[in-house]
Amino acid sequence: MAPAGRALALATAIAVAATGAGPTFEPARAQEQATRGLPVIRDTEIEQLLRDYAAPILKSAGLAKQDVRIVILNDRAFNAFVMDGRHIFINAGALFDARTPNEIIGVFAHETGHLAGGHLMKLREQLAAAQTASIIAMLAGVGAAVAGARSGVSGGNIGAAAIMAPQSAIQRSLLAYVRTQEDQADHAGVKFLSATGQSGRGMLELFKRLADEALFNSRYVDPYLQTHPMPPERVAALEVMAKGSPYFDRKDPPELQLRHDMMRAKLSGFLDRPDTVYRRYPLSDHSLPARYARAISTYRYGNGREAIMQIDGLIQTQPNNPYFYELKGQALLEGGHPAEAIAPLRHAVTLAHGAPLIDILLGQALIATENTKNAEEAVPLLRAALAHEPEAPDAYAQLAMAYGRKGDLAQADLAAAQAAFTRGDIKTARQLASRAKTRLPVGSPAWVRADDIVSVKAPAAPNN
Ligand SMILES: [Zn+2]
Repeated sequence: MAPAGRALALATAIAVAATGAGPTFEPARAQEQATRGLPVIRDTEIEQLLRDYAAPILKSAGLAKQDVRIVILNDRAFNAFVMDGRHIFINAGALFDARTPNEIIGVFAHETGHLAGGHLMKLREQLAAAQTASIIAMLAGVGAAVAGARSGVSGGNIGAAAIMAPQSAIQRSLLAYVRTQEDQADHAGVKFLSATGQSGRGMLELFKRLADEALFNSRYVDPYLQTHPMPPERVAALEVMAKGSPYFDRKDPPELQLRHDMMRAKLSGFLDRPDTVYRRYPLSDHSLPARYARAISTYRYGNGREAIMQIDGLIQTQPNNPYFYELKGQALLEGGHPAEAIAPLRHAVTLAHGAPLIDILLGQALIATENTKNAEEAVPLLRAALAHEPEAPDAYAQLAMAYGRKGDLAQADLAAAQAAFTRGDIKTARQLASRAKTRLPVGSPAWVRADDIVSVKAPAAPNN
């Protein structure tokens, strides 16, 4: 039995990493700021599925060109939210709770409704206005208190009451405003679903379930409900809208439902303790998702060779599934067999058609063989992957090792500096970058990158 912390330590196929700490020196990466410091789950299979869920919705909302990214957070509570115009955040807990693809698609449709409606900006304006209003109210309250003191009324309570009353009125008006936005997002969400020939049933059923849970479990309320209040009239209005669509009874295609079930199985296998996995997916369940969850759990907590046998069984059932080969490679690599991991990872890379996270895993296996020729192969592989995934955990550290093995100390220093920078360790990053500069031709592209890091100011906050 491993502690929960172990899930956080493994940064491979499911990489849980605090991404991109520290300031960025490339403007193109400014968008990554939104995910700073959050425990993000990175996984090619799940990310691809969620992109497939969201793409038609975003397109019908006219947001296809905005490169909205879905970010999965390692949190078991039900939540999904937008914080800026470029990211939709969803908790692993929401993915796990959703029984059908249509439920998650419904959540995305609702969040896209917020994005398309520009709600964040409007809410910020309202908040700023509310703050101004509360300052005015406070001044008025101070005035009342002063007036009360002058007229000889005992105590400052009148003043305090004068301060409190307008503030709670402001809170009420803000809450009413948030509820209006929620209604608008529901409305827009159902419209996007209908426009893409999809049902609003998942959204409706999910919201009903969440609202019921809140009624029967007041001790714990999902964060989603705190930001998405679900009064009965909201759910009733959604029901009318959803049932008005000709697609209300349309079901998810079976192959999409299977991918959804595989996602939930994968999350359980990686994030749950074995006893939970086996309760959810008992040995009597021979379905592919159940076998997937058990194979992952076996590799994470049990016998390596047994895990490989189970994964080989999965491969036999679906010989063209890249993620089974990825899992096999990961299990072998982490089991201390990097040379054996290379073949399945190569196969995964070929089948996945452009999956930088799997490229990085292959690079890691190549480097772990401690073979110079393999290290030479790993360098361009990692560099290409990093071009797509500049925040990928550990990839720069891997690259530094590969250069080190090749004997290219200047590039090794630069890559190690970038690794430290991505971790948010600016001090180490600057030291390594300074040393890299002394070894690089002045003015070369690598020298310029090193120089960029040297000139980054250390952040004022000590917790970076
Ligand atoms: Zn909402």
